[in-house]
Amino acid sequence: MALSFCCYASLNPQLHGKLSHGNSKNLQKVKEVLKTSGVLSIATSPHESLQNGNWVKLICGASFEDVVDVRNLSLVYTLAGVDCVDCAAYASVVSAVNEGIEAAREILHFRRPWVMISVNDDEDLHFRKAEFDPHDCPLNCSRPCENVCPADAILLDGTPDALKRGVLTERCYGCGRCFPVCPYDKISGQTVLFDKLWNGLGDSVTNLRLVAVSSPNSGDSTISSMNTMYSIMEANLRCFNLWQLDGRPMSGDIGRGATRESIAFAVQLAGAEDKPRGFLQLAGGTNAQTVDGLRKVGLFKTTNMMSITFTHSQHLKGRSLPLTSPHLSHALIGGVAYGGYARKIVGRVLSSMQSEHGHAHIEDHPEHLLNAVVQALALVGGVKSYRISL
Ligand code: SF4
Ligand code: SF4
Repeated sequence: MALSFCCYASLNPQLHGKLSHGNSKNLQKVKEVLKTSGVLSIATSPHESLQNGNWVKLICGASFEDVVDVRNLSLVYTLAGVDCVDCAAYASVVSAVNEGIEAAREILHFRRPWVMISVNDDEDLHFRKAEFDPHDCPLNCSRPCENVCPADAILLDGTPDALKRGVLTERCYGCGRCFPVCPYDKISGQTVLFDKLWNGLGDSVTNLRLVAVSSPNSGDSTISSMNTMYSIMEANLRCFNLWQLDGRPMSGDIGRGATRESIAFAVQLAGAEDKPRGFLQLAGGTNAQTVDGLRKVGLFKTTNMMSITFTHSQHLKGRSLPLTSPHLSHALIGGVAYGGYARKIVGRVLSSMQSEHGHAHIEDHPEHLLNAVVQALALVGGVKSYRISL
């Protein structure tokens, strides 16, 4: 899971390279493709894109530190009109993103995407802990949680008045198996590190534009985990928040079918009445098939719960859904984040350029930039509705 936030990133003016006159002339074909695509017609802010359901974020990777690739990826996807570039929380990487964005805006001037910094906690094996209050448990519960725990991390003593003890946090390693077996939905995943991450931001939260929380599909406990995290953030939340639905983490580049879990997760969350406030955005398994998948289930740029067809979701088959939602003022799904797939399609061009020219600025090689921009426009344009013609 990761906590990401868009902030008012400062720019290092020394990093801004000016385009040479020669390069500017050679980039004419790139400019023509961009102009005919309609990318320049984007006048909405990233926040408005979220409301309209056509937000697109490039994920460079929370641990991806190749600053040359990060710069070139940021340049290419800025030209393609993304709303946000998400990167690792290293000063060198953030500078590379900003440099790529500014280089793109020297080629054609249009609105600046937000920069999102991602703090990844995947290395912390103790990130998640089960939590429940045994005093809330019915005395006659058969205690399936105790039986299912592979770590003997749940111990309950019955007294005439209440159950006592509960989760032995030092033994719990967060496998999540106890979450769905509780017949009373008492168990949630306590986000120890999330709490620390959020509180560690201190007063800097006032400078944030958007906070994104990566949410894996943890079955029946997904919503309770989201609500727990939201309750941690709520008092200090001064900006918009977004739930990044990690349908099938880091798999978008694997194949066409990788996005199915991402779509199914989106349907599940769009129909959940008890989810916390915030935009919903797909990630994890997203690729060129994602928009079609969203369209098929009626979730692409829609604010209307009635228009969602549930035949594609085993999870929701036969269930009735709420006809009202706290989010009806904006699209049910705010947009899509592309990570591995976005890097793969442009990465091929970057690799080809590097094999010929070494580590180079892509705008210095317009033929490669054109190839990369066409790839990026095709992906981003699926959400933004561009017309690509060469
Ligand atoms: S999350 Fe896993 S290890 Fe922790 S209490 Fe539940 S079943 Fe046991
Ligand atoms: S299954 Fe649920 S209600 Fe029963 S003892 Fe465990 S946490 Fe409590």
